[in-house]
Amino acid sequence: MSHHILILGGTTEARLLAGKLANNPALTVTLSLAGRTRRPLPQPAPTRSGGFGGVPGLIRYLHDHQIDLLIDATHPFAQQMSEHAAAAAQAAGLPHLAIRRPPWQPAADDDWRMVDDLAAALRQIGPSPQRIFVAFGRQELTPLLVAPQHHYLVRSVDPVKPPLALPKIDYLLGRGPFKVAAEAALLRDHGVQLIIAKNSGGAATSAKLHAARALGLPCYLIRRPPLPAVDQVPTVAAAQRSIAHWLSSGDLPSDANLAALRGE
Ligand code: NAP
Repeated sequence: MSHHILILGGTTEARLLAGKLANNPALTVTLSLAGRTRRPLPQPAPTRSGGFGGVPGLIRYLHDHQIDLLIDATHPFAQQMSEHAAAAAQAAGLPHLAIRRPPWQPAADDDWRMVDDLAAALRQIGPSPQRIFVAFGRQELTPLLVAPQHHYLVRSVDPVKPPLALPKIDYLLGRGPFKVAAEAALLRDHGVQLIIAKNSGGAATSAKLHAARALGLPCYLIRRPPLPAVDQVPTVAAAQRSIAHWLSSGDLPSDANLAALRGE
């Protein structure tokens, strides 16, 4: 009997997990994307795109497509989708596992300032004009408008359209993974004085922080939003272990529970 797994994606982890599971004849895998990027990367499993229509829409989807297992592998800042996933899985009585990659941690020589959001970062930076590198999605940049004194370098996956009404702003397109040397060259060439970024975690976009460390630049890191307390694992490999256990026993352990089951 084939089991149908829905992976809520948009992340490297979701793509990698879908690739690992797609060849298992015991599984049917569907990957769900929010549909935000114009040209999403090719995915290794059948994909659907766009919102479900809130919790009721997701419950309906789970039912209509006979989903047996829900994996939340969304971005750590996709708070709403994670909340909807937890609520819908509970309402539908479905097993549900989240892949939550650990946040980045500062090294001893890092100058990191933790803030709640972009507006808070700009308030802390203050009125004195700075050259700021902002690695944010194009939908999230409007708080910059309150601080037009700075010179911004904005990098996003898709073009920022319409451009922001700011006197000094340069746009770059880019999608990780990025390399430290190239990030350092970018920061130097643009005379960047500080960085604002989300504490996304993961390897694909951490190079800017390594480059900032090498150049001695301060970084304003946006704290992660609170996410629902559900069974979770930190990596794709751990998710694979849990899913293998679920396939053999019907029980879907979090990483800690799986280690306990193995007597580690
Ligand atoms: P969100 O605020 O948690 O989700 C908003 C709505 O988008 C959800 O309620 C859902 O609509 C739809 N949605 C989100 N993820 C979906 C998925 N995988 N499949 C189907 N529908 C999905 O998340 P967000 O707006 O995507 O992003 C919030 C933060 O995450 C931003 O900081 C963004 O930069 C970051 N981020 C997101 C992605 C991504 O692929 N989504 C990738 C990188 C970074 P319905 O309520 O209609 O179901």
